[in-house]
Amino acid sequence: MSSLSSKSPKGTSFTHTALYQHLHDIGEDKIAYSLEKCGQNQRGIIMVNCNNCGYNRVTTLDYRCNFSICPNCYRKRKNRILRDYLPILNQYKICNSHNNVMGYGLRFLTISPKNYSCMEEGFEHIRKSFQKFIRRKYIQERIDGYIYCIEGKQKEGRTWNIHLHAIILSKFLDMIKRNNEKPRLIREAEESFSGDVHIDIKLCRNQEHALNYLLKYISKEENCFQTAEDYARYVVYTHNKNLIVKGKVFRGKVAKQPIKCRCGGYLTFSFEFEIDIRKEVSDKAQRDYRERVDFYYDPP
Ligand SMILES: [Zn+2]
Ligand SMILES: [Zn+2]
Repeated sequence: MSSLSSKSPKGTSFTHTALYQHLHDIGEDKIAYSLEKCGQNQRGIIMVNCNNCGYNRVTTLDYRCNFSICPNCYRKRKNRILRDYLPILNQYKICNSHNNVMGYGLRFLTISPKNYSCMEEGFEHIRKSFQKFIRRKYIQERIDGYIYCIEGKQKEGRTWNIHLHAIILSKFLDMIKRNNEKPRLIREAEESFSGDVHIDIKLCRNQEHALNYLLKYISKEENCFQTAEDYARYVVYTHNKNLIVKGKVFRGKVAKQPIKCRCGGYLTFSFEFEIDIRKEVSDKAQRDYRERVDFYYDPP
């Protein structure tokens, strides 16, 4: 693992990493190339304006790989998810004190099954089992909404600790042990996950804290993996998969929130493409840039 440069998988140094080599070895040249050119390849310029305070800036439009293992793209993605999802969560109160621990509100739920021997199977198993769990009568009556992400970590002996973190909108969920019987919530989960699970319910400080807590599990670094080969497999498997899954009252399209200026006003953007005339920017790419402006621009 020593040859893996962890912090910045891009540029020429990236082509010398073990991750890059392994991606090529398993035939994922496109992914390796995408990581390599992230942040390079200037395609045009973007002009940013605030019509409230007069802030304006001209900056370049760079290629973005959009991988969660890329620190730059992860940070941008995280900011976007925060901006879009916070207004949804803010519509509901949190369950945050020991006085209303029994009450209705947003909570933090973690479900960890036993370690898996295969990463891909583990991810699939958790996804399916959680759907079964959410459809159980006891759970259906108590959980009204969920936003979850699945976190995978590799353990000794190349097994995988894969677990699910969720923000849930729920009534009280019974975690009380009575007469040597497992708590109701654990029994419900074990039925759906067909095996032993560990469950943890936490109170959240506020909506933003809850989202930040969830999002921190999305990023991954090489030290979460035993070998560069496993790291490469993880990168390939999680590429283009939804990092965040939501359901019930949180379901539905997220309204894109406008990007705010530091002054509180809103920023507007305009583009100029094809600075690099050797390569044509397709219509699709142009639309993509416009739609995902937050991906190419860091708000002040
Ligand atoms: Zn402003
Ligand atoms: Zn990137």
